[in-house]
Amino acid sequence: MGPPHPPIELADVLHRAEKLAAEVVRPSAEATDREAQWPAEALGALQREGLAALTVPAASGGLGQGLLALVRVCELLGGECASTALCYGMHCVGAAVLAAKATPDQQKRYLEPIAAGEHITTLALSEPGTGIHFYFPQTQLHPDGGDGFRATGAKTFVTNGDHADSYVVSTVAAAPGASPHEFSCVVVPQGAEGVTWGEPWDGLGVRGNCSVQMNLENVPLSRRDLLGEPGDQIWYVFNVITPYFLAAMTGTYMGIARAALAEALGHLEARVYSHGGTSPAGSAVVQHRLGELWARVERTRQLAYAAGDMGDQGGDHALELLFSAKAEAADCAEFVANQAMTLTGGISYRRGRRLERCLRDARAAPVMSPTTDLLRVWTGRSLLGLPILGD
Ligand SMILES: Cc1cc2nc3c(=O)[nH]c(=O)nc-3n(C[C@H](O)[C@H](O)[C@H](O)COP(=O)(O)OP(=O)(O)OC[C@H]3O[C@@H](n4cnc5c(N)ncnc54)[C@H](O)[C@@H]3O)c2cc1C
Repeated sequence: MGPPHPPIELADVLHRAEKLAAEVVRPSAEATDREAQWPAEALGALQREGLAALTVPAASGGLGQGLLALVRVCELLGGECASTALCYGMHCVGAAVLAAKATPDQQKRYLEPIAAGEHITTLALSEPGTGIHFYFPQTQLHPDGGDGFRATGAKTFVTNGDHADSYVVSTVAAAPGASPHEFSCVVVPQGAEGVTWGEPWDGLGVRGNCSVQMNLENVPLSRRDLLGEPGDQIWYVFNVITPYFLAAMTGTYMGIARAALAEALGHLEARVYSHGGTSPAGSAVVQHRLGELWARVERTRQLAYAAGDMGDQGGDHALELLFSAKAEAADCAEFVANQAMTLTGGISYRRGRRLERCLRDARAAPVMSPTTDLLRVWTGRSLLGLPILGD
């Protein structure tokens, strides 16, 4: 383990992230999207800057930051490249899951290498069979007769694909007589025996996230690869995975919304008609539309920051705020990207333009689980005092 990072303030984290986003992420964003290539250079730079240790506790050499920091760093990255923000965000969520109940051995094997900028992790929860219901895994964890297990199943849309060094995988107990609800999280190292990968990701948007299917066939795991206790997965889902995932996604989609708004503003400031030197910026209709977009972005952004802050402090309605922030950020990114396309006219309605990428990237927001519909339902159920998973 290298020397621990000195404790740093959020302002310093954001300063580093903003500089890196402008200097490293921005120049390669277009190629990352066009070639659907994993943003290796950006992730390497995030590791070298210590930012890949964002959610690793300070005791393990990390930055010890929480949900608000994750919202804000992903917002800065997502404003340049949604693929980079998503890859980074899933790594930070995975790191938070690893940290939540890490044994000394897991701290040494995972958290310290992440803090040293030498290890990328990610989440492998979604399955082809259960779709958006990622909290009900069907990947089976069989006891192997000794003190180990064998994992068999398939995970879809694994962000970071085979570029990660480890995978946080959700499973269900397959021991004879085990409860059908005994779900556990395990960590599968890169290169584990029995893991194979599906076809490369060719998505409509977030094309560099390299989401691929991970097939697990009798993958050998030991007791030291189990996170927490057998049956802990639902605890992880609502106490760690969901809050951190929502924070990362909220920030990423706010970044897209802000980038789309900036494109619209830039176009309106520059466009001058040859007949009489007028500009669309002089139109009251355009001014009104721009004002509406700005307010939409700012109010959603305030909600996003409040949700992260409240989540860190464990305040009243923290979970409902996080649910709503991701749902609102998803709606905001789609709405603003779409409206900005209108304000920038036919000039933007072309392949390869920044707004085209914003629009395609934003379209992933409502389908990434928890989906916008699920989050609205969960918020309502929580406000009514009903269990969140009702059916
Ligand atoms: C770019 C991208 C990256 C991703 N990265 C990851 C990752 O890193 N790790 C990971 O584990 N997963 C990841 N996912 C998976 C994602 O979170 C979803 O679980 C997955 O997209 C679900 O897809 P599906 O086609 O199986 O949806 P289905 O389950 O078939 O659902 C289709 C649609 O039906 C509707 N629907 C279904 N059930 C309900 C219900 N009860 N209430 C309301 N509406 C409902 C929704 O509109 C939903 O969008 C990623 C997905 C994308 C697109």
